[in-house]
Amino acid sequence: MRDIHPVPDIAATLADLQRRIARAADGRAVDLIAVSKTKPAALIEAALVAGQLAFGENRVQEAALKFTPLRVAHPDLDLHLIGPLQTNKVRDAVLLFDQIETLDRPKLADALATAAEREGMMPNLLVQVNIGDEPQKAGIRRDAADGFIRAMRARFGNALLGLMAIPPVGADPAPYFRDLVAMADHHGLPVRSIGMSDDFETAIECGATQVRIGSALFGGR
Ligand SMILES: *Cc1c(COP(=O)(O)O)cnc(C)c1O
Repeated sequence: MRDIHPVPDIAATLADLQRRIARAADGRAVDLIAVSKTKPAALIEAALVAGQLAFGENRVQEAALKFTPLRVAHPDLDLHLIGPLQTNKVRDAVLLFDQIETLDRPKLADALATAAEREGMMPNLLVQVNIGDEPQKAGIRRDAADGFIRAMRARFGNALLGLMAIPPVGADPAPYFRDLVAMADHHGLPVRSIGMSDDFETAIECGATQVRIGSALFGGR
């Protein structure tokens, strides 16, 4: 059978994305997180060889399988968890990820604190805000976010770097991006993880400091 999905030219696509990011950022630093969920290690390796070090994965087990071997050859890679985290996976997540972007409930905070203490390591943390208050979506409710962020700040100190959000599908994302950025400003948090393949330039114009790009880099899923 013929492979109907041509292998994308990762280096050229990365260079093009970096140009678009730089143009939208207008002199600010914005980090590209390459979202590699469902993609094979060979494509991730191609991105690493092209100089990309930061990656995002949604599932702890899939990330462990792909990235544990890759880290041997690329010890400076920077791995982010961007999918929901179950408390029974927290220990593995603490050992594997450099940044966990989906802290969204007190029970998870308890589990993270316990695991970090036990393992003697603490990843950087972002609070995920359910910025559109969608019932099916992960993240702390919009109206509970201020209190939760204050509590996480008190608990985790400087390990809490910022906020992450995914706006509702089909809506103009800009008002949601601006709301998330205002919230981060209010709490003095430097990292704002907003923007994906279809809207990262808008997110950057609204104040994103890191964008999470999957399909525009690695192809559709
Ligand atoms: C899959 C995913 C992305 C990347 O989405 P693309 O549209 O492929 O760029 C970003 N953030 C999260 C949380 C995701 O689950």
